[in-house]
Amino acid sequence: MENVVIIGSGCAGWTAALYTARASLNPLVVTGATPGGLLTTTSIVENFPGFPEGVDGTELMMKMQAQAERFGTRVQFGATVEAVDLSQRPFVVTIDGEKVETKSIIIATGAGHKHLDVPGEDLLEKKGVTYCATCDGALPMFRNQPLVVVGGGDSACEEATYLTRFGSTVYLVHRRDTLRASKVMAERALANPKLKPVWDSVVTDVLDVKAGKVTGVKLKNLKTGAESVLPCAGVFVAIGHYPNTQLFKGQIALDENGYVVRAKGSQTTVEGVFVAGDCSDHVYRQAITAAGMGCAAAIDAERYLGSLNQ
Ligand code: NAP
Repeated sequence: MENVVIIGSGCAGWTAALYTARASLNPLVVTGATPGGLLTTTSIVENFPGFPEGVDGTELMMKMQAQAERFGTRVQFGATVEAVDLSQRPFVVTIDGEKVETKSIIIATGAGHKHLDVPGEDLLEKKGVTYCATCDGALPMFRNQPLVVVGGGDSACEEATYLTRFGSTVYLVHRRDTLRASKVMAERALANPKLKPVWDSVVTDVLDVKAGKVTGVKLKNLKTGAESVLPCAGVFVAIGHYPNTQLFKGQIALDENGYVVRAKGSQTTVEGVFVAGDCSDHVYRQAITAAGMGCAAAIDAERYLGSLNQ
């Protein structure tokens, strides 16, 4: 019987593992198919405190893993949780076909970036295509270059506004002629002289795979059908995220967008099941905030397990 199974291996999962391991709970981490989570898909992480020169996302995750393992964390690398049964105590977690009983669970399954699903997008990821302006916007490859942000929500407006610090011009490509973003965010973005909206348009192709870097995007105006090429050095896709929470549907409360609801502190609506990171946070979504939530979930789990023994 496990004390705590941690599902997910991003910043939230490894930090939860570090804290529960140091509390002698002998945690088990199930990494999932993408060990290290979303941070491994970015290039250099320059906003994680303690790394003044920046740190490679994958390297940071490996360091977090090593730190958690140093204190006794056990890791099922590459393993996937296929099912959870939260209706009975102990809980049952099915890991690659094997049923494991556990007294508590920390959910740290993260979120995925929605993709445009157009040619060139995947091949040019990290070569100009990115899903996080806060992570990548300050990279030299984007400085004083025209940049494209895709989307019309708060994320797109926030990221486009942020990117005007670095890019020569930031084009906000949106598929309609009205922004979905909150009024204040939309007004701030549109008032920025370096930001130019491109209305009613979608990206149909990211160029140029042959060159091995982003040189522009092909656009299609949905109202007129006109096609054009917009030269740029970066494409920042900000069309939303999806939380990786399908596994828990119907067993704990999820909000209307599928994010895990925190009922009290880091606890979900099921006692003994805790949550941390992007699968429960659509507002901050930073490595450091996910790590902080992982710490909180570990402390809450430790207290919960302590209360079982009283
Ligand atoms: P969002 O509100 O769902 O907006 C996604 C945007 O992408 C929409 O404008 C949508 O167009 C567009 N889009 C979706 N799929 C597309 C596709 N395949 N091709 C082209 N465009 C596509 O997502 P978000 O901006 O990430 O925000 C998510 C949540 O986080 C919201 O609740 C938001 O308020 C919150 N948030 C808050 C802050 C803040 O308060 N500082 C910052 C960021 C996010 P349509 O408009 O046509 O649907």
